[in-house]
Amino acid sequence: MSGGTFLLTILGSGTSTGVPVVGCSCAVCTSDIPQNVRTRCSALLTYGGRNILIDTATDLRTQMLREKVSRIDAVLFTHTHADHLHGIDDLRPFSAFSGKPIPVFGSARTITAIRRNFGYIFDDEPESGYRPRLITRTVTGPFDLFGLPIEPLPLVHGRGESLGFRIGALAYLTDCNAIPEETERRLRNLDVLIIDALRFRPHTTHFNISQALEVASRLGPRRTVLTHLGHDVDHQRHAAELPAGAELAFDGQRIELSICAGR
Ligand SMILES: [Zn+2]
Ligand SMILES: [Zn+2]
Ligand SMILES: [Zn+2]
Repeated sequence: MSGGTFLLTILGSGTSTGVPVVGCSCAVCTSDIPQNVRTRCSALLTYGGRNILIDTATDLRTQMLREKVSRIDAVLFTHTHADHLHGIDDLRPFSAFSGKPIPVFGSARTITAIRRNFGYIFDDEPESGYRPRLITRTVTGPFDLFGLPIEPLPLVHGRGESLGFRIGALAYLTDCNAIPEETERRLRNLDVLIIDALRFRPHTTHFNISQALEVASRLGPRRTVLTHLGHDVDHQRHAAELPAGAELAFDGQRIELSICAGR
């Protein structure tokens, strides 16, 4: 399959605690602006009737109900931090309804950690209904998923690493604080850059807003969408202060792109 458009839905635009943060009474956490309610960071790619998740965030069930998602065909994992992975058990109804295992993709390190940390999903016990049926797939380079070209992009995430993904002229780079040169070379001619921009102050494992905007000005995408946002980012107040072409992600945001754009 080639041509056509694909859709990326921001399922969650929030940092690991989500926003509001439990117990916090700051202005953002008590705000009544819907865009200040941020579930844990993840996204959904839709193409040709197929749904591909990027990460199984802790809020996966809530996100699936909110977006009325009734099938998941594959999962791309960025890394194994709890906020991106620990909703994995919520894949159960999808594999149960389809009767098919769901392929889950990640780096070798990610797949090893998922199999270790969620042993009950992958052990040799006889089939039980109490686990999602998953097949792990190790990503070693660009691949095609139901007609969508997926380009994995290694990123620096503090002392660890994560994978970003490029799909056509869109790049999704969550959980990173530096971009290796080799990856940066593969981020030319972007239409949409979705990038980690945790907060205003610096952080050891995430870009802050000014660093993310610096990356954007180097790469020159038409549109930059800042995600993985914490509770010091107020959608109403701060979105208006961003430079032209930059915006704050919000839960439920939809971005549609031609699969051929930028090529
Ligand atoms: Zn995260
Ligand atoms: Zn707060
Ligand atoms: Zn992380």
